[in-house]
Amino acid sequence: MFNVHEFLQKNAQTFTNLSDAIWEVPELYFNEKKSAQLTANALEEAGFEVTRNIAGLETALMGSYGNGPTVIAFLGEYDALPSLSQKGGVSTYEPIEANGHGHGCGHNLLGTGSFAAACALKKYIEETNAPVTLRFYGCPAEEAGSGKAHMTKAGIFDDVDLAISWHPMTSNGVMNMTSLANYAVKFKFYGKSAHAAAAPHLGRSALDAVELMNVGVNYLREHVEQEARIHYAITNSGGTAPNVVQAYAEVDYLIRAPRKKQVVDIFERVQKIAQGAALMTETKVEMEFQGAASDLIPNTILAKVMQDQLDNSPTLSFTEEDQQFAKEIYDSLDEASKASAYQFMTPQMKQQLQGHYLNHLVTPLLPEVLLPGSTDVGDVSWVTPTVQCSTACWVLGTPAHTWQVVAVGNTPIAHKGMLYAAEIMAKTAIACIENPKLIDEAKAELQTRLDGDVYQSLIPDNI
Ligand SMILES: [Zn+2]
Repeated sequence: MFNVHEFLQKNAQTFTNLSDAIWEVPELYFNEKKSAQLTANALEEAGFEVTRNIAGLETALMGSYGNGPTVIAFLGEYDALPSLSQKGGVSTYEPIEANGHGHGCGHNLLGTGSFAAACALKKYIEETNAPVTLRFYGCPAEEAGSGKAHMTKAGIFDDVDLAISWHPMTSNGVMNMTSLANYAVKFKFYGKSAHAAAAPHLGRSALDAVELMNVGVNYLREHVEQEARIHYAITNSGGTAPNVVQAYAEVDYLIRAPRKKQVVDIFERVQKIAQGAALMTETKVEMEFQGAASDLIPNTILAKVMQDQLDNSPTLSFTEEDQQFAKEIYDSLDEASKASAYQFMTPQMKQQLQGHYLNHLVTPLLPEVLLPGSTDVGDVSWVTPTVQCSTACWVLGTPAHTWQVVAVGNTPIAHKGMLYAAEIMAKTAIACIENPKLIDEAKAELQTRLDGDVYQSLIPDNI
């Protein structure tokens, strides 16, 4: 019988080399050229047929193997974050390059872990002749730009029966959660400049329009769904001279809510406020789409299958050296982060982890929660049953998007977590292949959850 664990351990070096190589070249959204290339090369070497440039995105790619009727997809990512440059394997803040990029969300591991899972499943298919089409998707721009939302809109996942992914974190468990749908849009106001003292009556202030718009939206907050979030940043205030009436100003808005439809409704109201602000100030307003993601639809059938794999696989084991380094990283965290280290844990788990800085325990399947953030996996989950796990690649208490994530991202701690995730994902796929009824049930559950709703991308057509 094919042994996933053995296969991954035997080929561990191939996978850790790839993830370290991607860690070395942190690239931002839609610019992941080297990372996509490294991944494409690895897929080809592993015997996958590689298609680049999918969905019209230069850094999106697909590796496929087999041509059976059941289509199983692993989702990988490889984008990094700005201003998070950091040396690996050190426990103090030491950027490699001032203001450089860094893998502060562990997507070097995410892409490679999913690739490793795909390699394990490929081997399984070879040995068993399972009637499966296996796909690995290299998905760009998760951090900004919502690559998967564009890919879903292009119909890339339409024939997929099951999508599996993961995310590096501080715990080992099924990510049984929904997330907030979002819509990011820039409002650009055009006014007229004038000497603010000599001829104020001739000026029309774009900055006034931005301020009035924000005031309007702040009044709107009381009248939206409890879980909705509206954030803004003034990305251009019209200049630094108070004695010049600001002819141009812009503000970026990010609107989030539990359901896509709610985001659309709130966006419509925000647009009315923007038009109101333009009317009040006699300026003109234009919008520029920035990004959008759908809410994540979890799947209980698949969550249980994945939990089974977690409950029945060897758990993570860390060396003295891992623990020592983890303690140093833990000591570098602020008190609030340390205090959050044991969030979402049962009292028993907290007790078992006393004196540990890395989490080797499996979290039991928790009731569905709403993640107060967004992910572009959401779009995929609308068109095909989707399941994700997390594994402990980071030190307890480490928040995402920090230098501490980058610092552990190419160490044995992260490598172990990545291979563990690959094992759980591959085993989840195999469990579904060997009991195809599960896939049918997962699909039926998705339809029930959609309740007649159909996927409609939030991305405007002209993008
Ligand atoms: Zn991430």
